[in-house]
Amino acid sequence: MKIAVLPGDGIGPEIVAEAVRVLQALDLRLELETAPVGGAAYEASGHPLPTATLELAQAADAVLFGAVGDWKYDKLDRPLRPEQAILGLRKHLGLFANFRPAICYPQLTHASSLKPELVAGLDILIIRELTGDIYFGQPRGRRTAVDGHFPGAEEAYDTMRYSRPEIERIAHVAFQAARKRGGKLTSVDKANVLETFQFWKDVVTEVHAQYPDVKLDHLYVDNAAMQLVKAPKSFDVIVTGNMFGDILSDEAAMLTGSIGMLPSASLNAKNQGLYEPSHGSAPDIAGQGVANPLATILSAAMMLRFSLGQSEAAGRIEAAVQGVLEDGWRTADIAGAGGRKVGTREMGDAVVARLKAQG
Ligand code: NAD
Repeated sequence: MKIAVLPGDGIGPEIVAEAVRVLQALDLRLELETAPVGGAAYEASGHPLPTATLELAQAADAVLFGAVGDWKYDKLDRPLRPEQAILGLRKHLGLFANFRPAICYPQLTHASSLKPELVAGLDILIIRELTGDIYFGQPRGRRTAVDGHFPGAEEAYDTMRYSRPEIERIAHVAFQAARKRGGKLTSVDKANVLETFQFWKDVVTEVHAQYPDVKLDHLYVDNAAMQLVKAPKSFDVIVTGNMFGDILSDEAAMLTGSIGMLPSASLNAKNQGLYEPSHGSAPDIAGQGVANPLATILSAAMMLRFSLGQSEAAGRIEAAVQGVLEDGWRTADIAGAGGRKVGTREMGDAVVARLKAQG
């Protein structure tokens, strides 16, 4: 099992180092190879996604990714900015399905902005289509309006579009994920206004015929946004397009209180995937040894489950993380009302110790 390890910038190297230690504590036959990406790669070779890094990622079964970016690169031409490395990896690996679980651990309910009873035990999964929709549709640009409310005025426009195969493949991924969880899928659209999302709803409904054991319902995106803060536990798996998923997955992330706890996975048709924490490179705390490594450690667990067929090992990591929270270990971002405040390395140590204690 080959894993490309791309630590990146800011806190990336610190948190990825802990995830690697956790993987190495599992006694699996893993081949890990590290390469620079993002600003670190730009510094080393003048490009955020060097050919050697891309080739390593393409040859691997999975990519473990830290984070990229720093304000100091904001003046670079867009193709040279660190964030372009993620877009390049998504494109070249064909990563069309983004998985973002939002889990609220009982010990961390105080960190949520919602009342504890609304989020205690929350465990939902948002599946976002990642390579289509208005973010990639052509044509797009600026021009002089020929019609509309102000003919002759300067205007900008984008194109929202989804093809049948694009909707079918994300729907299959979502139904299969729902089947392995609570058996309930909510498809989020805006079919009342948008042609693209009426088509989305029609195709998802057709694919449902192949998954009679999964309960499907449909919500308009505005209602879904409300329900996520009103009754988040009413969801199991949510599937939606690129733009709605972008917004709803961040909303769901906040229900759990800390971005430092949230893993993510982006998969292609061969189950090859890129696994990364949902947060960025946090330049404000980089190098201080205080970042929470748990989102990255939980991303490594997702990698074992989804790309490497090692569900048992994934479950062991998740149980170890649950265990360290029960024991009261807290990095600064989740310290809240109490617990024992530790740094990145100590949190990694605690997870490794819990894993070893499992025998
Ligand atoms: P961020 O997620 O890096 O940080 C937001 C806040 O959360 C900061 O206060 C940070 O200290 C805190 N935080 C983030 N991760 C944490 C952790 N593991 N433990 C404790 N605290 C944590 O978002 P930002 O500040 O908007 O962006 C910083 C840089 O990251 C930018 O250059 C941005 O482009 C980049 N970014 C990269 C990715 C990615 O690599 N996938 C995603 C988002 C942002």
